[in-house]
Amino acid sequence: MTFKINILGCGSATPTLRRNPTSQVINVLERHFLIDCAEGTQLQMRKFGIKFQKINHIFISHLHGDHYLGLVGFVSTLHLLGRTKDLHIYGPEALGDIIFSQLKASSSYLSYHIEFHALTSKKSELIFEDNLVTVKTIPLKHRIYCNGFLIEEKKHPYRLDIKAIEENKIPIAWYHRLKKGEDYNENGIEIFNHDLTFPPYPSRSYAYCSDTAYLESIIPIIKGASLLYHEATFLEKHKERAKQTLHSTAKQAASIAKQAEVKQLILGHYSARYKNTEDFVTEASLVFKNTSAVDDGDEFNISF
Ligand SMILES: [Zn+2]
Ligand SMILES: [Zn+2]
Repeated sequence: MTFKINILGCGSATPTLRRNPTSQVINVLERHFLIDCAEGTQLQMRKFGIKFQKINHIFISHLHGDHYLGLVGFVSTLHLLGRTKDLHIYGPEALGDIIFSQLKASSSYLSYHIEFHALTSKKSELIFEDNLVTVKTIPLKHRIYCNGFLIEEKKHPYRLDIKAIEENKIPIAWYHRLKKGEDYNENGIEIFNHDLTFPPYPSRSYAYCSDTAYLESIIPIIKGASLLYHEATFLEKHKERAKQTLHSTAKQAASIAKQAEVKQLILGHYSARYKNTEDFVTEASLVFKNTSAVDDGDEFNISF
């Protein structure tokens, strides 16, 4: 029941010796998603033991270099490693042209197929769904078209109470119906579902809010998220700069977390002008207590 976030890079603008620009890998129930793919992503994946070929879906928030300039390199490496499985890439419309024209210019033909999903909507939309997980966009306010992503588990099944099931001699054929929440009813015997099962685990969610100005319209989309990553490029003392560049301060990120009633907030995308991240946590914690500042290599596990 893994739901894990690996921070590969959490800096902004340019790579520094201390920090790589933005990319993260999410393992949700063994679906491996790469979110943003800045320069250095491949090296960071090697460093932190992330297996390249497990990535089948890549989500790119926007086309500022600190969020996608590692993508074509990564795509090329997958070919060199002999990939045959389809790779799904979701991002702003122009990203498809960028990838395919770069490959064409070097006469590179891939051993696998890229399915590119152009994102153009300014409203939240469902962009990925399978039997256990969904991914929706979180439209953000930035200098160019930009989305965050909300990764959610679907409703979990009811958990079988094996002791009660054995005592009542429930046939195996009924297990999947009990997991769906049905009451047992056979040969005139009726037993309530809650007498044979435990409640489902709550559905967990991760909201990734990439570069954005303070934006209250995202609150209903990320409401109650288990974990929120929100950019905090600046501290409040530079809030004018945040406003000009359509970024957020730590305090603004915390205000969003509080209003959205998320369980935990993590901050990143700090401007390189700041020497440490403690001031970000101090500032944000005054508004939203359960806050931490991420660093490259950090891992977050979302528990039930
Ligand atoms: Zn950025
Ligand atoms: Zn940006």
